[in-house]
Amino acid sequence: MPGLAVIIVGDDPASKIYVRNKKLACETIGIHSEEYALPQDTTQEQLLALVDELNRKKEIHGILCQLPLPKHLDEEAVIHAISPKKDVDAFHPVNVGKIMIGNYDFLPCTPAGVMELIHESGINVAGKECVVVGRSNIVGKPMAMLLLHEHGTVTICHSKTRDLKEVCRRADILVAAVGVPELITGDMVKEGAVVIDVGMNRLENKKLVGDVAFDSAAEKACAITPVPGGVGPMTIAMLMKNTVKAATIHE
Ligand code: NDP
Repeated sequence: MPGLAVIIVGDDPASKIYVRNKKLACETIGIHSEEYALPQDTTQEQLLALVDELNRKKEIHGILCQLPLPKHLDEEAVIHAISPKKDVDAFHPVNVGKIMIGNYDFLPCTPAGVMELIHESGINVAGKECVVVGRSNIVGKPMAMLLLHEHGTVTICHSKTRDLKEVCRRADILVAAVGVPELITGDMVKEGAVVIDVGMNRLENKKLVGDVAFDSAAEKACAITPVPGGVGPMTIAMLMKNTVKAATIHE
């Protein structure tokens, strides 16, 4: 039976929801899951000791440390400590390098989920103008790489991009992974574009919104993902896929 260990440190409400959803998904499809909820004042040594224990634990094939960690902990050191073979988030430099080369065991869950949505919708990436807004290591950069692997012509935008609207309007496939509520409005979307919204932003009134202003963008798009829904559940589905893959690698 594939086994997934999820580590969560502290009381971040959003992280707690993500961890709960991951656990539920494991239960639904029959993956053994273990949750390690550590207190806010956990030390780096304690966290690394747990990762070390899980790296050696036979029943566990995948290890995930829910980010962000409390500020006093070194995220990079934790990512590096997880065995690349159990790195179901695909954040370890070994797995990041493999993705760059195009010969990988795991894909990071969110970009992989986006690609799955694209494939399932019958959209062919080859030759398309693809614009990714956001260049984080977790979403934007690997997202761009996966689109490139499928022969898209890829542009990556970020906070220093000079004319975001003009670049976005060129996109046949537009992926928003920014973390700014409704930054991408309908006037930034080309007629007939595919719009994929990775953003998950909690407003003060508790409403969850994406990085795309859905209603105005939907008027232009030929296909668009909603928030909530859309990419979020796909991320979890890809985590399950990676855990099963990890179990087969270990055998
Ligand atoms: P980061 O904060 O790490 O990165 C945000 C990126 O957006 C940066 O590259 C930043 O540029 C860029 N950016 C910020 N403001 C602007 C702007 N005004 N114009 C253009 N670019 C801008 O975020 P993540 O990549 O981790 O996450 C992005 C969003 O996706 C968040 O809402 C997050 O909650 C969501 N998310 C959703 C997941 C899911 O399962 N659906 C999973 C992971 C994340 P610069 O590099 O120059 O600072």
